[in-house]
Amino acid sequence: MSARHATYVCPACGRSTAADRPLWRCDCGSHLNLKAGRGLSRGEIVAGDASLWRYAAALAFEGPPRVTLGEGWTPLLEGRWQGVPVYFKLESQMPTGSFKDRGSALMLNHLLALGVGAIHEDSSGNAGASIALYAARAGIPCRIFVPAGAPQAKLVQIAASGARISAVPGDREAVGKAALAAAGESFYASHNWQPYFIEGTKTLAYELWEQLGFRRPDAIFVPTGYGSNILGLERGFEELLRAGEISRLPRLFAVQAENCAAFARPWQEGVEALLPFSAKPSIADGIAALKPVRAAEVLHALRRSQGAVVTVPEEAILPALAALGRQGFFVEPTAATAAAAFGRLIAEGVLAREEVNVVVLTGSGLKAAERIGAFLGTGAK
Ligand SMILES: [Zn+2]
Repeated sequence: MSARHATYVCPACGRSTAADRPLWRCDCGSHLNLKAGRGLSRGEIVAGDASLWRYAAALAFEGPPRVTLGEGWTPLLEGRWQGVPVYFKLESQMPTGSFKDRGSALMLNHLLALGVGAIHEDSSGNAGASIALYAARAGIPCRIFVPAGAPQAKLVQIAASGARISAVPGDREAVGKAALAAAGESFYASHNWQPYFIEGTKTLAYELWEQLGFRRPDAIFVPTGYGSNILGLERGFEELLRAGEISRLPRLFAVQAENCAAFARPWQEGVEALLPFSAKPSIADGIAALKPVRAAEVLHALRRSQGAVVTVPEEAILPALAALGRQGFFVEPTAATAAAAFGRLIAEGVLAREEVNVVVLTGSGLKAAERIGAFLGTGAK
């Protein structure tokens, strides 16, 4: 059994369904969410397990995982940014080089337990690479739909898994449509739709809490496209709140590139639905989302946590990446946006210097080495 009495709830029609069938959305067309978990107490942590499975008691999944690459329990390191102390959470050190492995691990294990065979997925890169490698590890066929212009290193990673790659011309939405059209051929294991992906990203909250000595941070800066980390953090910290382990939520800051900021206008106008906006290409390709599936829930989480949407201009991203490199952190441009946003709020005096702030570095620089090199040069003589 995988489900541990897990239940899907539809936020649109209100229907509840046992999570014992492989679903990616409700019959009414909406996405589904998993009912909130009970959380866990400190004594339930499997301290000897250096992976996210140390929090198995809090997960909507029963039994040992059938597929794992040792995901989770990434380093949390102290540093400084513009003279202010900050913690960097190195999700870039996940097995496939990005935070997506938390979600992939939970989603794949859930699907395997329900007997799902071949899967497909659409992704701008990191999620596709993650799911392809987990599918390879699990021994199931996998097909990934990617934008024709996806970064080369991410495509190479997918190809190395043996997954079939379908490059789709057009924008991110065109890729999603192509994946939807293939839903009759194999199971649509969409990281943006399937709620078990967020069940995985919630372990980021548990880790931050434990690594900070069972305290919650004051503020967390997260590069945000579809918002799976924002929703995972909210879910995890809500569970810890209900379990009496923390007394309030940390402030969640969703960081977007100014060039493609789906959440910026709704945030400014105080609404919890997407509004039309114009998008330009961004070097932060991992967060260039045009139509996030759970937009209302992401905006609600930001408001409820007293966080905000923070946008960063294109010209601030690579300098932030270079400054992170000088501290020993080699990250992709998407990840560098979080540090740039943190710096912006520090400069604006929004954050108190004595607060515990976390910048989540979501992906490795090896994902975009060529593009980073074009900016930094290699200095080779
Ligand atoms: Zn529904």
